[in-house]
Amino acid sequence: MIVMKIRTAAPAALLAATAASALLLSGCAGTDDAKADTGGASKLKVIAAFYPMKFVAQQVGGPHVKVTNLTKAGAEPHDLELTPKQVGSLSQADLVVYLKGLQPAVDEAVKQNKPKHAVEASKLAPLEEHGTEVYGAEDEHAGHDHADAEHGDPHVWLDPTRLAAVSTGVAESLATADPANAPDYRARAADLVARLNGLDGEFTAGLATCARKDVVTSHAAFGYLAERYHLNQIAVNGVNPESEPSPARRADIQRLARDKGVTTIFFETLAEPKTAKTLAQDLKIQTAVLDPLEGIKDEAKSDYFSVMRANLDALRKGLGCS
Ligand SMILES: [Zn+2]
Repeated sequence: MIVMKIRTAAPAALLAATAASALLLSGCAGTDDAKADTGGASKLKVIAAFYPMKFVAQQVGGPHVKVTNLTKAGAEPHDLELTPKQVGSLSQADLVVYLKGLQPAVDEAVKQNKPKHAVEASKLAPLEEHGTEVYGAEDEHAGHDHADAEHGDPHVWLDPTRLAAVSTGVAESLATADPANAPDYRARAADLVARLNGLDGEFTAGLATCARKDVVTSHAAFGYLAERYHLNQIAVNGVNPESEPSPARRADIQRLARDKGVTTIFFETLAEPKTAKTLAQDLKIQTAVLDPLEGIKDEAKSDYFSVMRANLDALRKGLGCS
């Protein structure tokens, strides 16, 4: 009875909210709460572990979610350390999107703080074991880096079709967390999947006929991309960009680069490119940026798609594709 009395003042507002929802989301029943006119106060709280997960959560969640990235814009996500505040925030989140093995601190914090819902991306896009070097050159310092070696190569997002699988899974988790908007999450994910498949088509066509297939990179982030588009990755560093190559590994790469007629050493934006640049100088060849998309410095200027297209251009130039 008390509840009914309190509510008597509200019908006009409720009707208005329902009408607004119906206009905004055709096909969505009027069960939606008054998100549209509460200024976002009731948006779903989503925490993403690093940029590609944030990108997917934002694209799929659209106006219904507020996404926070645990990795600062432009910071390198491998082995991220969390502040106590960030750890605590996980228990308040409606959904956490992360990738096991990339950031052990996040894996541990998710386990301890039990968010309401969680998407672990490697369950949607299973990890594979990739050597840091495609040609199997032996070096005990490359690619045997703690969690990475244990869980497999974490860089699944660099194959657009694998990120599409993550997108579909994120939509299902959002739908579970917020059933009122389930049709919208699924529609937004379908749109993202279509765009990712389109990007995959651009890569397939753009890299179909190339003079060279060997991609010398700084850290071993491009294993899935190389696999998808039939390229060979020769990584100077390990799966973790902070690992340093041994003198023997450096000599191996020099020899391979000469043998294969490599014209370009690719380095990335967030990690220190010194080794790659020195190598290019020694070999008297050029350098170019190949961005592993582990973070984006200015998200107003670029996003997953623009960076991937820039990567495709760089690969086409470096590999002499027609
Ligand atoms: Zn990486």
